[in-house]
This record gives sequence, structure tokens and C-alpha cells, in this order.
Amino acid sequence: MKYDIIVVGGGHAGIEAALASARMGKKTLLITMLVEQIGAASCNPAIGGLAKGHLVRELDALGGEMGLCTDATGIQFRILNASKGAAVQGSRAQIDMDKYREYMRKVCHNTDNLEVYQDEVSELLINENKEVYGVKTRLQEEFEASKVILTTGTFMKGLIHIGENKYDAGRAWELPSSTLSIQLKELGLNVGRLKTGTPARIDGKSINYENMEMHGGDVNPAPFSFRTNKEEFSPTQYPCYITYTNLGTHDTIRSNFDRTPLFTGQIEGTGPRYCPSIEDKVNRFAERDRHQLFLEPQTSMCTEYYINGLSTSLPIDVQKEMIHSIVGLENAKIIRYGYAIEYDYVDPTELKHTLETKKIKNLYNAGQINATTGYEEAAAQGLMAGINACLAIDGKEPFVLRRDEAYIGVLIDDLVTKGTNEPYRMFTSRAEYRLLLREEGADLRLSPYGHELGLINDETIEKVNFKQKVIDESIEFMKNEWFTSKKENLELLERLGQDKIKDRVLLIDIVGRSTVKIEHLNEFLPQFADLSDYLKEQILVEAKYYRYVEKQKKQIDKMKRMLKMTIPEDFDFSQISGLSNEAVEKLQKFRPPTLFNASEISGITPAAIDVIHMYMNLKN
Ligand code: FAD
Repeated sequence: MKYDIIVVGGGHAGIEAALASARMGKKTLLITMLVEQIGAASCNPAIGGLAKGHLVRELDALGGEMGLCTDATGIQFRILNASKGAAVQGSRAQIDMDKYREYMRKVCHNTDNLEVYQDEVSELLINENKEVYGVKTRLQEEFEASKVILTTGTFMKGLIHIGENKYDAGRAWELPSSTLSIQLKELGLNVGRLKTGTPARIDGKSINYENMEMHGGDVNPAPFSFRTNKEEFSPTQYPCYITYTNLGTHDTIRSNFDRTPLFTGQIEGTGPRYCPSIEDKVNRFAERDRHQLFLEPQTSMCTEYYINGLSTSLPIDVQKEMIHSIVGLENAKIIRYGYAIEYDYVDPTELKHTLETKKIKNLYNAGQINATTGYEEAAAQGLMAGINACLAIDGKEPFVLRRDEAYIGVLIDDLVTKGTNEPYRMFTSRAEYRLLLREEGADLRLSPYGHELGLINDETIEKVNFKQKVIDESIEFMKNEWFTSKKENLELLERLGQDKIKDRVLLIDIVGRSTVKIEHLNEFLPQFADLSDYLKEQILVEAKYYRYVEKQKKQIDKMKRMLKMTIPEDFDFSQISGLSNEAVEKLQKFRPPTLFNASEISGITPAAIDVIHMYMNLKN
């Protein structure tokens, strides 16, 4: 059977890759091990968070499914960092993970051009030119395709650890993908080993909630998707609960370090630095007398809770003792024990910016296979791999987002140029241009691309265009309108509790003040009074960031000019004292003709580019 695109794996990356491909008109086959597990949340029952929320909003703006699914199945919505600036706020939602899976599975089964098949892909079909032309499965079926996208998550040679116990699995009690990474290695790809972990799940009926803090959702929850109707969005919100570990818990953990796979050498892969296990936290932060834990419902039935912050691979008797030492969990019944998993990944510097591997034509990798961690990072890569595979079939230019356009651009650029030796997760601090990459403007930045690709419909793009028009008109007005110190203006400022002005200032610098709120906007911009609160909020945010954004845009223009700088063919990089030996070696080897080409080489950081630029300017 011949397909345009085969996607291997129905996790968060695979779903987005398969849907994008099918929606762009390509005959697509999604092969996954367990159809019931399409869209399964392997770890925490939540989507989004700081920087991860940005990824979901960007994915949504491009026509991805994750935001819509979260809105349909979310059971608690919050904006994190709500009191801080819009650039560092992050949307987060608890999800009913059963409903999330059902939703995603239904969408996959009901999307035109998309077929779903349950099996394990055991081998890639490769021709004599080292190009992929299909896959072979464990049941000995062969499927041909122009492009294959691997999204195997934690499944390649997955090995689970609970104390001294080990077993082969891709996720608890699910079969691993045992042969694929061996073949990838034989084909010359650099395959490594990483580790991640998850906490125990406990029975809701056995929790004593009385001595815990309740942690609810936002009073006015905001949806993730730009396509969800904001006025009609009123999900039932379920609480989480906060409790803490204590010195007794830490003693229990510490006295069992000799049985902890993380410390006995049983686990070899590197784990996520920013999501450490509890044994790692107790070891590294020995001075801390407690660690915060969140009890999060896994479904709206609240029968099973996830203990966020207590990820572990300790033996089960120790897990039990540790959990029972925690306030509120004294009698907790454990439904599933926590575990760590080691798995094979492919070094992401093996990839082009399109996520196609450099060595094996027609093969794309997306998600945790590329050394990332997190549903959102995976989904974003899946969408981009799906889009690029389609564009390549059509002989069109690749779709690569720049670092100043999207967190997705930062994610992929970081992975393919710098690589990583630990599970990579997104942070706002990774984005140099984060003031431009705010969540609420993701539709303005990216939906025009989504529309052009055929993933965003006409109705949606019309709304985005209207939002853009309103913002452009209001900013244009405010940056040209003087707000003078005439009597009624001063009275207005006083009435609204605003600082006075002396002579005159541009209106944008009044509306852009942090003290100006949405309820004040009609006073300054009466001509926009009829707009919805949502659009007024957007005007306000744009005004607040206007000056900073202008500055960043100038920096970007400077950077673009800088990257055009040509480098002489015989240039000796070893003369530049500020470069590392590794950078010099790579630059001498690849001899990039421009600074832009230099920036594309893996391991050549923006700081190295700056150093080369400065040196060449001084020489000229
Ligand atoms: P997955 O969601 O793992 O999906 C992979 C899919 O591919 C599965 O459906 C599988 O059946 C299928 N598959 C694999 N191989 C084959 C094959 N050969 N043939 C057919 N189908 C195949 N993320 C965090 O952000 N924080 C955490 O704390 C965290 N902890 C985790 C703990 C554990 C124990 C696990 C397992 C994961 C954890 N994650 C965590 C990671 C998170 O689950 C992943 O980042 C995310 O699910 C990756 O999405 P993916 O689509 O790449 O892969």
C-alpha cells in the first residue's frame, strides 16, 4: 500500500504531524502501538505552563489540535504569572486525560485522508541511495510512503526502573519499540540514551484534604485556542491541593539512597534537570526542609490523583513509606507506583531545520525522539515535521520559523544547531525576542502562515485580520496623538488615579503606563469604545509593549544586516581569541561564506557570531 506520509507513533508529536499532513491533502497513515493510547499523557495531567503555553498557542495559531482539545477536555484553567507582564505569562490547564485521549482518537479517526493502523514499526525500508521509502511492521506488513515521520517518544528500547526492578517497556506496561533505534544507529545516526520519571498515582477517596491548601482555577478562565468561542467558554473547574514533604519524608528517602537506581548506577541516561525526581531534590538541596507538592486530578471523576513534585524510581516499599509520611496522604492508597524510564533518542543536530534527517532522505523525527521533554514541545515539532514533509512532496520551499517569529522557531533552532545532552524543555529565557513572542499575539504572528498552508480556515483568518487592523489603527492613532496638559486632561488623569504630566506626551505613553487598566481605555480612546473587552485588552497590551517592541525590532534589523556579512574563503578563525576551540574547529572545517551560514552550524552560538562580527568589523 502506498501513502504520501507515514507517521510512526500516536503521541502528541505524531497526532499533530498526522493531522497536518492529512489536512494539507496528503494520503496519510498513522501507525501506532495501541490505538486506545493515542494522545495519552504519559506523565502529568496538564497542558501548558510557562513558555509551554506559548508553544500551544503558537501551534493553535498555525492550525494544530492541542489547544482545541485542551479547551474541550480541560478541568482547570489558570494563567500563570498573571500579575507579571504579558510576555512572561503562561496559560496552563489541568486536563481530564481520559477525555483528552478520546477526543484526539476521535479526531484522528474522523479526519479525511488519515488512516490509523495499530502495530509496531520495526524497520524502515531504505533504498540503495539511503532514502526511506516506507516501513515494515512487527506483523510483517509493509507500507510505502514518500516521507516517514518518526515520533516514538520514550519507546525506543525503553527500560523502566522501580527500585531494583527493571523491565522493558515504552511506558508503564506498554511494549517498547525494540529494533528501530538499532537500525537508526546502523544507518549512521548518533543515538543516545536519556531518562525521565513519573510519580505515583493515588486513590482520591483515600486522601485527607482537610489539612491541605486548595488551589483553584481562574475566576474568568481563558481558553487556549484562538478558535474557541471566548464568550461561551465556561468549563467546570476542579481544584488541585497543595501539601509538602517534610524532614521525615526526606529521612526515609535518604536512608534508601543505596536502593535508588539513580544513585546505584542502574540508570545511565541523563534526566531532565528542571524536573528532577524527589530523590534527586533531597540529595541536591539537602538544606531544604520541605518540597511543595500539588495533588492534581487525572480525570473529572477525581478517582485518581497525580502527585506533582514527587517523581521517583525508589523501590515500592520506600515509595509507600514516603507517601504516607506526607500530610493528607497518611492513608493514601497507591493505584500506580512511580517509575523512571530510560530510552533511546536521536541527536537532534542530525536534523535540518525542517526536521528531516541530514543523512537519510525522506526521514523526519519529531518529539521526544529528538531529546525534548514535554507534550507541548513534542506537538510543536510534530506539526512542523508534518508541514515540511507535505511541502517537500509538493516541491515547495520549507517552512522554517525564525527565532524572532515564534518559540517554535527557538525550539527547533536550538535543537538542530546546538543539540542537547539532557532532556530539553522550553523556557521563556531561551527566547531572545520574548517581548515580540507574547502568547496573546501568536495568532497575529502565525495564523497568516497557517492560512496559507491550508490549516487555518477563512473565517478564522478574517477574525485575525480584524484584530490586526484594530491594533494597527489604535497604535497609529496613539503614537501620533499628543496628550497635552490642558485642564480636562489633568482632571481625567486625577480622576483615574494617574500621575500628572507637565507639558505634553504622546498618548501611547499614557495608555502604555502599567497603571492604565482596561476600564480606563474608553476615556482615552472613545472611538474604540464599541469593541469587545478582548480587543480592548489587546490594544492595551500592544500599547504597554510598544516602546520595547520598537527597540527589539531595531535589534532584529541590525542582526539581519549583520548575518549578511560575508566571510573571506581563506579566513583564519583561529585568530579570534574569544572563540572556543570547538567553534574554531567547526568553522575551519565548514568555511561558512556568510555569518548567517556560520550561525547555522551546530554549536555556533549567537555569542560566537557576535564575537566574529566584532572581530571582522575591527579588521575592516
Ligand atoms: P509519546 O507521547 O511518548 O508517544 C509516542 C507514541 O509512539 C506512543 O503512542 C507509542 O505507542 C508510539 N510508538 C513508539 N514507537 C513505535 C513504533 N516503533 N511503532 C509504532 N508506534 C510506536 N514530560 C514533561 O514535560 N515532564 C515530565 O515530568 C515528564 N515525565 C515523564 C515521565 C514518563 C515516565 C514518561 C514516559 C514521559 C514523561 N514526560 C514528561 C514526557 C512526555 O510524556 C513526552 O515528552 C511526550 O509525551 C512526548 O510526546 P511524543 O509524541 O514525542 O511521544
